[in-house]
Amino acid sequence: DSHVPHTFVIFGASGDLAKKKIYPTLWWLYRDNLLPKSTKFCGYARSKLTIEELRAKCHQYMKVQPDEQAKYEEFWQNHDYAAGSYDQRSDFVALKERLSSLESCNCSCNRIFYLALPPSVFERVTVNIKDICLAERGWNRVIIEKPFGRDDVTSKKLSDHLASLFHEDQLYRIDHYLGKEMVQNLMTIRFANKILNSTWNRENIASVLITFKEPFGTQGRGGYFDEFGIIRDVMQNHLLQILSLVAMEKPTSCQPDDIRDEKVKVLKSIPALTLDDMVLGQYVGNPNGVGEQREGYLDDPTVSNDSNTPTYAQGVLRINNERWDGVPFILRCGKALDERKAVVRIQYRDVPGDIFEGNSKRNELVIRVQPGEALYFKMMTKSPGITFDIEETELDLTYEHRYKNSYLPDAYERLILDVFCGSQMHFVRSDELSEAWRIFTPVLNEIENNKVKPIPYVFGSRGPKEADQKTSENNFKYYGSYKWIGKK
Ligand code: NAP
Ligand code: NAP
Repeated sequence: DSHVPHTFVIFGASGDLAKKKIYPTLWWLYRDNLLPKSTKFCGYARSKLTIEELRAKCHQYMKVQPDEQAKYEEFWQNHDYAAGSYDQRSDFVALKERLSSLESCNCSCNRIFYLALPPSVFERVTVNIKDICLAERGWNRVIIEKPFGRDDVTSKKLSDHLASLFHEDQLYRIDHYLGKEMVQNLMTIRFANKILNSTWNRENIASVLITFKEPFGTQGRGGYFDEFGIIRDVMQNHLLQILSLVAMEKPTSCQPDDIRDEKVKVLKSIPALTLDDMVLGQYVGNPNGVGEQREGYLDDPTVSNDSNTPTYAQGVLRINNERWDGVPFILRCGKALDERKAVVRIQYRDVPGDIFEGNSKRNELVIRVQPGEALYFKMMTKSPGITFDIEETELDLTYEHRYKNSYLPDAYERLILDVFCGSQMHFVRSDELSEAWRIFTPVLNEIENNKVKPIPYVFGSRGPKEADQKTSENNFKYYGSYKWIGKK
């Protein structure tokens, strides 16, 4: 329906996410002619802002090229901004009138509402949208950002609230990891390759390690993080989403709900995580480091001095089904580590009946989500030349070499476009969310109630040593011998 007018409404338009992600993403989609022709945009927040001021706030994130200037002007001509409260009906009535005049037609029209707001105002805003601002003759879709609650109870409350106002097919819960190229590629890698598909099971795979690492700390803005911690911020959502795509059974088709059905099914086979299967860490300053590295988590003035909030966590999940029984799925994530990286490692079992005097090492399929998308398969080969030694090498698919000229859009570009198209494939369904909280809530409660102390680790290190100990107990082998020789 590219000729039907569409209106994209951003609540919290004065905020951080709006200027850094939402407006830039809308501009890139507009620039590339990917949005329906007559799309209008309307910001809403309490701050009184002119379009000029809004534009200035966003400027540094928009990456406008000199030859795009005319198009960029045109983009902003389609914008409006209304200031108002989040609870007064009259302000929403004013917004509704604003939207109608922006759309300037009495025909059918579609509306997308993006809630870039703190959870404290979620309920009131959604009620007002539902009561006052919906398009009457077109479709309405609502985009929501994490946090989707902080445990099973609060998340259910939010889901029930949303379900009382909207149908599930109107709700787009963003987990931006689902918008990443290599995460979207997991389905293809698994189900379009006979060789991988038929070895993807407990007979062949020893363990799966899914890692997220960040080289910076809270940068003096730990207040929000301190209430949530790394388990809620990264593990319960991003890493568990990746796990479900790695572990799910083959869906009956590529339809969004067929895929989401399989994701829910595999989550249902996962028993709740226990503290015994976890390693928790909190970073301390590195006196020899530079800049922020000298500051520990507790040195952040917005974090309380006795905070036990983990900034590093590793958890081992089990999947109690026929495919995965006995295969540890290790999720590992942390801030203030040695590098920025998100990687999935599928480690195969040892070759039975060894004839190489114990020199053979395990195959490992590595899917690097970021940075530098790559897929490589560690394998053994005979050392080239006159010897009969064996050595580790790899089959390597590095995107920047193999796909030199392809443009990989940002996760938000794919996801916002999906909302226009009505594809919920890469969004989190409420039953998925509820399974995710079932797995994590007991251990989160235990950590908080028993004030479990995290293990200190130095800013810029690989995290607590105890985590490596735990992976080796869980059938992940690190040899320390693999050498990567990158292309020039
Ligand atoms: P933000 O800048 O703190 O808030 C967005 C806007 O909401 C503010 O400009 C402010 O607008 C209004 N607001 C802030 N605090 C409020 C309060 N206590 N009561 C009422 N209104 C308040 O937040 P954000 O970083 O843009 O994030 C928006 C949402 O996305 C949040 O739910 C956040 O958790 C989520 N999120 C953000 C990021 C990110 O990278 N920033 C990433 C993932 C998820 P007015 O004062 O003008 O009304
Ligand atoms: P690796 O060096 O053998 O590391 C594998 C895993 O061992 C990592 O998950 C690491 O965990 C863990 N580890 C590191 N030190 C450890 C220790 N002392 N004890 C226990 N575990 C330890 O293999 P790799 O990381 O796959 O490859 C090495 C480098 O080559 C990487 O930088 C990789 O990106 C690069 N490479 C690039 C390409 C490509 O671009 N196409 C292809 C192949 C390799 P943590 O991640 O938690 O630190």
